This record gives sequence, structure tokens and C-alpha cells, in this order.
Amino acid sequence: MTERTLAIIKPDAVARHLAGAIIQRVEADGFAIRAMRRVELSQAQAEGFYAVHRERPFFASLTRFMASGPAIVMVLEAPDAIRKWRSAMGATDPARADAGTIRKQFAESIERNATHGSDAPDTAAFEIGYFFAGCELVP
Ligand code: GDP
Repeated sequence: MTERTLAIIKPDAVARHLAGAIIQRVEADGFAIRAMRRVELSQAQAEGFYAVHRERPFFASLTRFMASGPAIVMVLEAPDAIRKWRSAMGATDPARADAGTIRKQFAESIERNATHGSDAPDTAAFEIGYFFAGCELVP
């Protein structure tokens, strides 16, 4: 079933000029880029995006990082896109990520880990709606 997921090229990867390489990987893996935009999140916008993590010990550090510079947000479409993109990214911690995954190749640390991907259909719907209006995503 065709599905959409929200992907982010995080500020660490944009700062290191890895956006092109990551977008190349997105296309090589067969995702359609349905929408894409460069964003510079405020601290409040980063906190809103990661609100589910507000009780986690790394919340302040994570949201400061996400607001630290430009990022690129994308809506990716493919059959089974949520699982497929998370599998392309690899484990959260690059030390645990499999060879051939984006995080193994590009992440600096468990926090500065190059990319984001929605983890379930309900979070994908929230996250896509956080950055893109419905009229930008009309089939
Ligand atoms: P994801 O779904 O693989 O992105 O991982 P999570 O939803 O668990 O965490 C969200 C983001 O928080 C991760 O992508 C990391 O940027 C960051 N993060 C996760 N775990 C840690 C941690 O233990 N320490 C720090 N500093 N950041 C973390």
C-alpha cells in the first residue's frame, strides 16, 4: 500500500553538506519526494515537533540541536514508506546501525544522527501536517 512519511535531513547533515547525498539515496531507494522545504526551526517549533519526547532526559539538548541551523523537511511516498525509510536510516545510535544505512554512513552521534523518519502512521500524519498544508500534497 502506498504510504507517506515525514523525513528530515537534520541540521548536522545540512551543515556538513550531506543533503545532496541523502536526497540521492532517497531517490535511489525508490521514494517519490512529494514535498520538500528548507526550514530553520525556532526553539518552540522544535519543542512542538518533538513534544512526545518532552519527558526524556535529552529533550532540551535534542530541541536545541534541531533549532541550531537549517534542516530540510520532505514528504516521501512509497509502498510501506514508514518502515522502508526507517530501515534505510538505520538505528538511532550510529554505533548500532547496520552497514549500508544512512546513519551508519553519515551520523555523528546518537543525537546528531543526520535524519529523522516518522515511526508509525499516526505520527506520520501529525509530522506531515506540522510542516505541510494539505493543499501542497493533493494527489
Ligand atoms: P528515532 O525515531 O530513531 O529518531 O529515535 P527516537 O524517537 O528515540 O529519538 C528522537 C531523536 O532524539 C533521535 O533521532 C536523536 O536525535 C535523539 N536521541 C535519541 N536518543 C537519544 C539519547 O539517548 N541521547 C541524546 N542526546 N539524543 C537522543
